[in-house]
Amino acid sequence: MGAQAGCANANFVSTSTQTGNYYEEPAKKLPVRKFDVVVAGAGTGGVVAAIAAARQGAKTALIEVKGYPGGTVTEGGTALHSFYNLWKAFPGAKKRQVVRGIPQQIIDRLLKIGACSGHAEMSKGYNYDSVCTAIDTEMYKLVTFEMLVEAGVFVCVNTLLTGAIMDGSRIRGVIAESRSGREAFYAKSFVDCTAYGDLSAYAGADYTEPNDYPVVNSIGLANVSWEKLYDFLEKHDAIIQQAEGIRSGKSGQIVRIQGTTAKLPGDFGAESRKIGMSMVTTSVHDNYFMFIKLNFKMPVSPTSRDEVAKAELELRRRQFRAVELFREYIPGCEKAFMARTSPKLCIRRGRLIICDYDISHEDVIEGRRFDDDVMAYGFHDSAPRYQIKDGGTYGIPYKALRVAGIENLLAAGMLITSDHRAHMSTRNTVCCMGQGQAAGTAAALCAAKNCGSRELRYHDLRAALVKGGVYFES
Ligand SMILES: Cc1cc2nc3c(=O)[nH]c(=O)nc-3n(C[C@H](O)[C@H](O)[C@H](O)COP(=O)(O)OP(=O)(O)OC[C@H]3O[C@@H](n4cnc5c(N)ncnc54)[C@H](O)[C@@H]3O)c2cc1C
Repeated sequence: MGAQAGCANANFVSTSTQTGNYYEEPAKKLPVRKFDVVVAGAGTGGVVAAIAAARQGAKTALIEVKGYPGGTVTEGGTALHSFYNLWKAFPGAKKRQVVRGIPQQIIDRLLKIGACSGHAEMSKGYNYDSVCTAIDTEMYKLVTFEMLVEAGVFVCVNTLLTGAIMDGSRIRGVIAESRSGREAFYAKSFVDCTAYGDLSAYAGADYTEPNDYPVVNSIGLANVSWEKLYDFLEKHDAIIQQAEGIRSGKSGQIVRIQGTTAKLPGDFGAESRKIGMSMVTTSVHDNYFMFIKLNFKMPVSPTSRDEVAKAELELRRRQFRAVELFREYIPGCEKAFMARTSPKLCIRRGRLIICDYDISHEDVIEGRRFDDDVMAYGFHDSAPRYQIKDGGTYGIPYKALRVAGIENLLAAGMLITSDHRAHMSTRNTVCCMGQGQAAGTAAALCAAKNCGSRELRYHDLRAALVKGGVYFES
């Protein structure tokens, strides 16, 4: 798939609306709200960015189109990869928790209410990840909402960010729409955590749309038996990943399992391939498989509204078929039903925003460090094919979060890193969260010092991050 360069407004026009007829919208006076920092998108990275900015003392607004914070961490994958380095796969490598700070504080809060497996060590398949951190996705939404409010963030849910107000290469404000009306949010610094890079695109930043992953809508499957699934896979020697942690309040329970369908009897494997279903799931509750993923490769980028509509329907059909397959083939699932779906399909990458530095695959696997690192990270989603040298970590530099060409805009999350293989590392949840803490902290410091993102002294940023609990390996 070739990457397409694009400019925001051209891509926001769906081909089916290009009829040659236009309606000229009359100009409107919008009420203005003023902040130090505006974070766009209350997802995996955005939640952490907004908490970090507010804790620095910045008057912070967070704009989220859905009715809850959390984003793809509550909708997409199976577990949070990864707070740790891959120590189990490298004899002699020292075990260390490399992502701490606000991301770990979220985990601590979840653990207190029985909504997390803990950092459960993998007992099989640990050359993929050394731990499995699974969450109760609904409790994650509540816990992060409460943490945002406690930090003093002005949380605007059910609010769509629809534009940027520019003053040359500086963002003066953003436009947001909700049932309370259309408003302008002015601020000194901005962070784009929309996953699709909406704010960067509106601000005129350059980006690509590689469309090199399938889109997904995973399901939660209830009324199932972990024990029977385990016995069935074990009987066919089909288990390739396994982790034991806290499930329904009891330690030592299986919380992650992956089976290879190639070894299973009957047509389960062939039929599941037809619907792009993967046989890996996690849970923090008995009788529930939290994520069964259904993949679908769209012919064009998921920024096309009309193509997304077709994909949404196709994924709903695949979800229904997935339940049928589990009921028919997997013991203990005879009366399974779909307990959750995502409100919309999930992407692994939509737009990739051009930043001052683009992390390369060599940077990742060689475990490179930079003189402006804002965090360390040690997981690669293509392991064991690609792993970080010696089970170590690499650094995410501050320059990789600065949106190129815009004075006061940072980006955090799946929208950075153009190289597909490097992105297989940087896009993972815990990396997005760590980036969020760095970007939110930097945005608040820039606002306090009245400076652009490139004028911020690294020394000041690093000191604030260390104070915020961020771990640096060197
Ligand atoms: C199917 C799938 C499986 C995955 N599996 C795993 C896994 O097992 N482990 C792992 O660690 N990672 C996994 N990932 C990757 C990881 O989940 C994502 O890369 C990460 O969560 C992205 O975080 P983010 O902050 O960039 O975006 P998101 O968490 O998606 O947050 C973006 C937020 O912005 C909001 N938003 C977007 N546009 C606007 C707008 N214009 N106005 C207002 N709000 C807006 C969205 O509603 C959303 O809440 C998976 C991803 C997918 C899709």
